[in-house]
Parts: sequence; C-alpha cells; structure tokens
Amino acid sequence: MKKLIIANWKMNPKSFKEAEKLVLAISKTKATQHVVICPPFVYLSLLKTKLELGAQDMFWQNNGAFTGQVSAEMLKQFKVKYAIIGHSERRALGETDNEVNLKVKAALANKITPVLCVGYGLSHDMADEEVMQHLQNQLEAALYAVDPKKVIVAYEPVWAISTGDPYKTKNIENPDHAERICMFVRIKFKVAKVLYGGSSNALNAQSFLERQIDGLLVGGASLKAEEFNQIITIKI
Ligand code: PEP
Repeated sequence: MKKLIIANWKMNPKSFKEAEKLVLAISKTKATQHVVICPPFVYLSLLKTKLELGAQDMFWQNNGAFTGQVSAEMLKQFKVKYAIIGHSERRALGETDNEVNLKVKAALANKITPVLCVGYGLSHDMADEEVMQHLQNQLEAALYAVDPKKVIVAYEPVWAISTGDPYKTKNIENPDHAERICMFVRIKFKVAKVLYGGSSNALNAQSFLERQIDGLLVGGASLKAEEFNQIITIKI
C-alpha cells in the first residue's frame, strides 16, 4: 500500500512563479507514493496541476462576517481534498482543541479529509507515556462527535518541527518513538491513517516509512523539488 506524503509549504515560496516551478518539478516525477501538496491559500486557486491539493487551515463556518477566514465550502470549489487542521504553529497562536474540533467537523461536512495535527513537548526527553496521555487529551477533544475512520492524524512532536534534523534532537531512536506513538493513535482512536511529521527529509524518510507509519507530513524538505522528489519516489 502506498504511503501518503503531504507537503506543507507553510508561508512559502515567496512568489507564485516559484510555486508554479516547484509544482511542475514535482508533478513531472513518477511518484511511488501518494502525494498531496498544501500551498498557501492564495496560490491554491491559481495552481494548475494534476497533483492533489490540500489547504493549511480552514474556518468552521461556511460564510459570513469572519474577516480573513476561508471556509471548507470555498476550498472545495478549487479541488481541495485535504485540510491540515490544528498544526502546532496555529495552536501556538492560540487555536484551541474546541476550535480544532469545529474545523474537523466542518471539513468532513464538506467532504474534505482533515489532516489533524497533534503533538507535544518542546523537549525530546519526555516519556512515551506522557506524550500518549497528552495526545489522548488532544484527540478526544478534536474527535468529539466525529467518525474517526474519516480522519488522518499527523503526529508531530513539537521539538522535531523545523529543527532540520530529527536525529539531532532525539538521535537515531526517533523513528522507533514515532512508530510507537503512531501505533498507539491508530489502535486507540481507529483513525484512517497516522502520519509522522517533524524534520523528515530525503535522508531519513525511508527510516520512518519502512515502519508502521502511514506516511509523512513534510515541511521544509517539501520546498526543495529535488529533495521532495527523492521522498516521493522511495521504494518500500
Ligand atoms: C510541519 O510543519 O508540519 C513540518 C513537519 O515541518 P518540518 O518538516 O519543516 O519540520
């Protein structure tokens, strides 16, 4: 079964021209894995590509007086099939578990698959049990009154995001840790898939993908066409 590789471009690249170039380079590659690209909102509607698209966030209301927000109903008109929800960078700006739950429900109501991000801890020293307890709280809130089988979860330890190299922060054991946590989430919450995210790159992707992890949410490395293409052509 193919693994799911989701590119989270965050607030990049700086110009639409670069975004077009990147998407072209990725789409020319014969991927062995299932690929989804999540560009910034403003590029989403403009990119002409056969690649599947996702949004990096969405609002839970369909329309109305909500300045600056973008709804699932709007996104689906631009063939958006996925939405990243509850990313730690949004939680750091104040997004709550309750808001994450409302967004997950709104995505599903509009036939958009939520990629629900959960994660914990600024340090890698934390015991797995403590991480699991925290994730359990996040997931119980985010999945309240939701069919979990329709939800993809991305486990992203906050200490590993954007550090450039997950091995530096939690050495070679990180894939084992990630697999234990992903299996816990899959078994306990019966969600569709559980991905890992946090400084995955062309050098370490295989070590995550060959484990019982359903795919990767890739930030920084998804902005480098050559490196991302190495990830999506991995053979497992
Ligand atoms: C992310 O932000 O979801 C992410 C995984 O970023 P990075 O790969 O850059 O750590």
